[in-house]
Amino acid sequence: SNSGAVTIDMIESLSRKSFPPCMQQLHQNLRQNHHLRHGGRLQYGLFLKGIGLSLEDAMRFWKLEFTKIMESDKFEKSYAYNIRYNYGKEGKRANYTPYSCAKIIMSNPPSQGDYHGCVFRHVDPDLLKQRYRNQGIPAESIEMIMNYVEQKHYTLACTHYFEVTHNLKNNNFGLQHPNQYFDESQKVLNG
Ligand code: SF4
Repeated sequence: SNSGAVTIDMIESLSRKSFPPCMQQLHQNLRQNHHLRHGGRLQYGLFLKGIGLSLEDAMRFWKLEFTKIMESDKFEKSYAYNIRYNYGKEGKRANYTPYSCAKIIMSNPPSQGDYHGCVFRHVDPDLLKQRYRNQGIPAESIEMIMNYVEQKHYTLACTHYFEVTHNLKNNNFGLQHPNQYFDESQKVLNG
């Protein structure tokens, strides 16, 4: 197991460099709102577990954000269970694995106020274009990404996003999983 490979102090910088867009979106909204709804906590929480955040650090990480808007008591009563659950410490004590792209794309679409899902499948294309313009992604790359989106090739859109943000050409590694995106990014950045 890679539990402990990532510690709480590494998350912010990793989120900017190596998180796929779906997890970046969840991370940013958690930081902004100090809260994520159930679908987001599951998708993001399991991803963080997958990259090697220990249960102890996960607990501290979520608590730090949530207690900016609620008492520690309320956090313990309403949310701590969920986090232990992700790590198989509650309920059926199953070993829950992080969600694949297919699962994120095909099931449990986000409603108003949710930030989980696949950005290429679930975020309004005009908003996405604007987001990438603000991020300084070149126009021709945005066009390519949006073409893939239009053809419903969401993982290819994401792969192109990966290439642009890592300064690579034709680096199609067969994206199937957000944790695979993370691993590939770390390989590129750390050699
Ligand atoms: Fe996340 Fe996969 Fe969608 Fe990329 S293609 S944003 S990794 S769900």
